[in-house]
Amino acid sequence: MNRSVGVAVEGVPRSADKLYAYLLPEGASASVGCVVTVPFGRSDKPVRGVILGSPDDAVPESKLKTVHSVGECYLSEESLAIVRYLRDRYFCTYFEAARCLLPSGALGGGAKSVHSVVLTDESAASLYMEAHPDNRKHCDVLGYLLEEGEMTLKELLYVTGVSDSVVKTLAKKGLVSVEKIEVMRNPLKDRPVPETPPAVHLNEEQTAASQALISDLNSGRTHLLYGITGSGKTHVFISLIDAALKQGKQAVLMIPEISLTLQIVDRLYTHYSSSLAVLHSGLSLGERYDEWRRIRSGEARVVIGTRSAVFAPVAPSSLFIIDEEQEHTYKSEHSPRYHAREVAAFRAARGKGLLLLASATPSFESYYRAQKGIIGFETLTERFNGKPLPKVLISDLRRDMMSGTRSCIGRILGEELEQNLQRGEQAILFMNRRGYHSHITCADCSAVIKCPHCGIAMTYHSYNNRVVCNYCGYSTGYVSKCPTCGEKRLIYSGVGTQKAEEELHRLFPKIRVCRMDADTVGGKYTREGILNDFRDGKYDVLLGTQMITKGLDFPNVTLVGVLNADMSLYSSDFRAFEKTFSLLTQVVGRAGRAEKTGRAVVQTYSPSHYVLSYAFAQDYESFYREEMALRQSLLYPPYCDLCQFCFLAPSEEEAFRAAEDFSRAIRDAAEAHPNLPVRLILPKVTGVPLVGGKTRVRILMKCRDGREQRDLITSLLDSFRKDPRNRAVSVSADMNPVNIL
Ligand code: ADP
Ligand code: ZN
Repeated sequence: MNRSVGVAVEGVPRSADKLYAYLLPEGASASVGCVVTVPFGRSDKPVRGVILGSPDDAVPESKLKTVHSVGECYLSEESLAIVRYLRDRYFCTYFEAARCLLPSGALGGGAKSVHSVVLTDESAASLYMEAHPDNRKHCDVLGYLLEEGEMTLKELLYVTGVSDSVVKTLAKKGLVSVEKIEVMRNPLKDRPVPETPPAVHLNEEQTAASQALISDLNSGRTHLLYGITGSGKTHVFISLIDAALKQGKQAVLMIPEISLTLQIVDRLYTHYSSSLAVLHSGLSLGERYDEWRRIRSGEARVVIGTRSAVFAPVAPSSLFIIDEEQEHTYKSEHSPRYHAREVAAFRAARGKGLLLLASATPSFESYYRAQKGIIGFETLTERFNGKPLPKVLISDLRRDMMSGTRSCIGRILGEELEQNLQRGEQAILFMNRRGYHSHITCADCSAVIKCPHCGIAMTYHSYNNRVVCNYCGYSTGYVSKCPTCGEKRLIYSGVGTQKAEEELHRLFPKIRVCRMDADTVGGKYTREGILNDFRDGKYDVLLGTQMITKGLDFPNVTLVGVLNADMSLYSSDFRAFEKTFSLLTQVVGRAGRAEKTGRAVVQTYSPSHYVLSYAFAQDYESFYREEMALRQSLLYPPYCDLCQFCFLAPSEEEAFRAAEDFSRAIRDAAEAHPNLPVRLILPKVTGVPLVGGKTRVRILMKCRDGREQRDLITSLLDSFRKDPRNRAVSVSADMNPVNIL
C-alpha cells in the first residue's frame, strides 16, 4: 500500500509552499483532511500540518520522513475544494487556507480556560507603538489587537508567536486588559426558552421577493436583496430559511459584527431553538468547537455568525445569507485575505445552493452586478407598516461656532435631547472616534488640518498637547493658525466618546448615559448587558462608536444624533463617500422603527455635501449614479479590479526600492501579455500604523481579475520572494481590498 501523503505545512512561505511528501507511520489510519504533526526542515523541528492529498513531488519512499502523529480528520471533500480556491485566489499557502476550515481549537489542543484580551485605549496603543518601534513583540501584539479589537489570549499568542509574559507586561502597563471568560458553555444556554413567535404575514413585496428566492434555492446563483431600512429583510430571510430547511438543507446567516449578533440571535432562536448554532470570534474556542461539531453532524441546521461562519461545515447546497453585505468586516485583513461574499458565492455555485446578499446600501460592486443582470435582484421599497422615515435635522456646526457655542452637543441636538428627557424617551448618539481627542477644522475656510504625509485628518491629544497623525505617527505641537487660509480660528471639534459623555453630564446633570465603545466593552456578555439595560430603560442615552450604528431595534428610541458626520468623509480611500453614505443611512434608519416617529440630528461642518444630502433623503439610487460616474471616469472598481501590493521593509529606501523593482516587473510582464490590461498607481508610503518600526509602501494595480491575471501575479510574487535582494522585505498581495492603505 502506498503510505505517502501530501501535507500542507504550517509556516512555510508561499514561494516554498506545496504539498510536502511524508510517510504515514506504520499502522496509522489517516486520510485526506487529517491534522498531523510532522518533522520539518533541516532540524526536523515538529510543525503542524494537514493532509490535503498526494504529494506534489514524487519522492522515493525510502527518502521520506515519517509523520509524527495523526490527529482528527476535519476536512470534507468540499473543504478541500475551498482550500484550493482560497490558495489560488488570495495568494496564501495551503496551510493558511486549510486553517480557515478547521474548527477553532483543532490545532491548539483542547484548551479549557479561555482569556480574552482587549486594548484599553486604541490611541494609547498607537502612540506606544510609535514610541517603541524596536519592541517588535509589543508592537505585534498591539498591532493585532488594533485590527481585531478583541482576541482570545490563545489566538493572540498563536498569531504573534510571543509568550504570555509579553501580554502580562502590556497589561501591567495598562495598555491591554485580560479577562477570564467562562468556558465550554453553550452560547444559547442561559437564554429563556423562546416563546412561540407571533405568526408573521409577509406583505406583497416581501412575498414576491421570498418566492423568487425560494425558486432559486438550488440554482447555485447569487441574489441581491435591496431593501430600505425597516422594510423587513429579516422576515424575508426567515421565510427563505424555513423553505431551505423544508428541503432538507442547512442555512448560514452572516452578520457584520458581534454586537449585532445578540438581537438577531434572539429572533432566530425564537424560530429555530436548539437547531440554531452560533459562530463568532467572541465565543471561547471550546464553544466554537462544540458549535462546529453540531453543525457538521447536522444537529444544528441554521448557523448565525460573523465572517468566518462562511466556512461553517454545512452540507454542500446550503443557503448562505449575508446581511449588510457592504460591510468591510466581511473582508479578512490577514492572510488569507478572503471576502466572505466571494467564498460564499463559490460554495453556493459549487454545491448548487443559493447565496443571498442583503442591504439597504449595497456595495457598489454588488449593485452594479445586479443592475447588469449578473446576479438576481429583488427589492423592498416600503418601510413595513408604511412607517415614515425619521425627520432629519441638519445641524450646521459652523453656525453654533459663530454664535459662540463650542460644545460637541450643538444647539439643535441639545434641544431635541431636552424634549426626549422630558417625555421619557431614549436617544442614541453616535460618533466615530473614541478616546479623548479631537479634529481640527478652520471656522473660516472649513479646511481640516491634515497630515502632510498621509493627507489624513490629524487628531489633538490633550494629555500631551500634541497634534498627531494616528496613521504615520507624524506629530507637531498645538496648531493655532489655519495652514490653508492663515486665520487663527481653528476649532478643535470632533470629540471622543469620553468627552462627549462629560459634555452630556454638564448640559443635563441628571441624564443617564451609557457609553458603549471598545473601552467600556470588555468580555462578551458586557455588550449584551449594556444593551439589555438600555432596552429596560435604565439609561436615557446610548453613546457609542460604529458598534451601535447597525441592527439595533429599540422601541423607545425616538432620537438619533450623529455628533460628527464629516469625519469619515475626508480620507484617502476611494470608498470614503460610499462608506459615509452607508453609515449615515443606517444611523438615520435607526430612529423611528417603532410606533413613535423618530428624529435624526446630524451635526456637520459641511451641511451641503452631496453625500450627506443623499444619505438624509435615503436616496441610494441618486447617490449611486453620481458616484458611479466618478468611478467610471477615474477608473475605479467596479469598473476595474484593484490589487494592492504591500512591501514591508526595515527602511523606507528599502521598501521603495522593492516596490519600484516590483512595479518594473509588472510593467515588463504587462508588455509581454498585451491581453492583460494593467495600470499602476505608483509607490506610496501607507498611512497605517506600522508593526515593529518598519516602513510599508504600497502600490495599486488596476487590472481585470481573472485566471491569467492571478497566475501572473503569483509568478511575480514568487520570483520577487526568491530574489536574494528582497530577503529583508515581505510582500503581500490583496485583490480588491476593502481598505486602501
Ligand atoms: P430591515 O432588516 O429591512 O431593516 P426588519 O426586518 O428589522 O427590517 O423589520 C423592521 C420592523 O418591521 C421589525 O420590527 C419587524 O418585525 C417589522 N416587520 C417587517 N415585516 C413584517 C411583517 N411582514 N409582519 C410583521 N412585522 C414586520
Ligand atoms: Zn500622517
